[in-house]
Amino acid sequence: MSDGDEHPIPAIGTPVHRSVGGVDEEIHTVGDAHIKRIVYPPGYRWSTHLKPVVGTELCMHDHVGYLLEGHLRIEYPDGCVIDVEAPHAVEIHAGHDAAVIGDATAVLIQFDFDGETAARIGLSDGHGHR
Ligand SMILES: [Zn+2]
Repeated sequence: MSDGDEHPIPAIGTPVHRSVGGVDEEIHTVGDAHIKRIVYPPGYRWSTHLKPVVGTELCMHDHVGYLLEGHLRIEYPDGCVIDVEAPHAVEIHAGHDAAVIGDATAVLIQFDFDGETAARIGLSDGHGHR
């Protein structure tokens, strides 16, 4: 800042913790966004661990963020398989299965706008081939 005043870092508030299907989430809300630190254990697979909880055939959320640790494999119903190995940014479209590959825990920092993530970030609608 040019005026030389002290500008304290704004408080973001206390994170919410939640654990679903063996996946641990730490959720910070900033404005309309949720900044999530998501920890997926080795052996995790969406269709095994979350599908019974969520009840849809595939994960219908869009995920945008940065894989800090580990190796995730994303599988789309058209047969496309996308491997993401940390450190790497991720863009995952609604309508997918996902699994942790290997023995390492996967840690994903995710930017989430509830059901509006794709629209708010400006992603194309669903997995496709442009
Ligand atoms: Zn495809």
